[in-house]
Amino acid sequence: MRIAVLKERAPGESRVAITPETVKKFAALGATIAVEGGAGVAASIPDEVYREAGAEVATGPKAVEGADIVLGVQAPDVMALAGAKPGAWVAATFDPFREKERVEAYAKAGFEALSMEFMPRITRAQSMDVLSSQSNLAGYKAVLTAANEYGRAFPMMMTAAGTVQAAKVFVMGVGVAGLQAIATAKRLGAQVSATDVRSATKEQIMSLGAKPVFVENVAGIEGEGSGGYATEMSEEYQKAQAELISLHIAKQDIVITTALIPGRPAPKLISDAQIATMKPGSVIFDLAVAQGGNVEGSQPDQTVEKHGVKIVGYSNTAGHLAADASALFARNLFNFLSAFWDKESGKPMLDEEIGDAVRLTQGGKIVNERLLG
Ligand code: NAD
Repeated sequence: MRIAVLKERAPGESRVAITPETVKKFAALGATIAVEGGAGVAASIPDEVYREAGAEVATGPKAVEGADIVLGVQAPDVMALAGAKPGAWVAATFDPFREKERVEAYAKAGFEALSMEFMPRITRAQSMDVLSSQSNLAGYKAVLTAANEYGRAFPMMMTAAGTVQAAKVFVMGVGVAGLQAIATAKRLGAQVSATDVRSATKEQIMSLGAKPVFVENVAGIEGEGSGGYATEMSEEYQKAQAELISLHIAKQDIVITTALIPGRPAPKLISDAQIATMKPGSVIFDLAVAQGGNVEGSQPDQTVEKHGVKIVGYSNTAGHLAADASALFARNLFNFLSAFWDKESGKPMLDEEIGDAVRLTQGGKIVNERLLG
């Protein structure tokens, strides 16, 4: 069983899909590991450390030659996989709804694309879930970045020269990233409030010591819908939400938006008119900027200033914490493959529940229900 890891091809991608720790763990299962030279440099892992852990470090795309499994953070274009075994597995994020052509190319080339974003949100797959591990770091980094852009302090400070007021932070979208954003803002001493369309999050917000701000007159999502994800809301809900947010947002110093809907563009939550009601010097961090953005006018990797308010958002927020993000991503991949490792054949054999959920292509065809349906 030969596992290969290429240097990430996507511009600005600083993470890497294997770490010395997971090289050792895969080797203990009997696999050989080849890493492309320089793959870990942006995540502070020099080639030498991979070698010490037992990996071969190959020049350029040679790493992929004869590979049974290729690991990636973002799936490379299929051309980069020339030399991998026919039918090789590629476990990475594929952005399958938006990158349909790439998925088709994988099918045509006969590779088995395993999309880590499609990992089911079930208890036994929690340790394999890259969306959770990366969102958690992203929620933390969003708050730190906003704090850095903000020209005032976060905690209340009573000093001899007078009192500094605590910053008011509002988190919109309370999934994994939002929960970490709330916790981080609380740790920094801010007064935190948060909202979501899923009413199950109300308790979670309160348990972190923040104030829930919810649309009360129109029904939101009561239980945890399919996989716990949100769906697009009715026009009536969107109108009620916009009114509520307008009142609340004008009093906030920092807003962190994290709202996503799988397979759909990010919902627009903050309009230009609402930004205009905020105090000059306020900061909005749009974590959904790469998926179209929750905030009117936000631009990936740029600080946009509108009505005296700074709007910030990264196309790859977790990548700004490349070492930790890589360590968690690599463990997710190891946990995924090792859970299905068949000792006799020395390779992983996926079961139906997880295999069918993550497998996009097989036998020259697209096979995933979510893409075919
Ligand atoms: P996500 O990244 O898909 O979305 C972020 C948040 O935005 C969600 O809480 C969503 O409800 C919210 N949102 C969507 N539209 C909105 C709108 N118009 N206004 C306000 N908020 C809006 O979410 P996620 O972090 O991937 O979490 C999705 C679900 O999966 C949650 O229920 C979470 O608890 C669950 N989860 C389960 C597991 C597991 O059991 N393995 C692991 C991680 C997450």
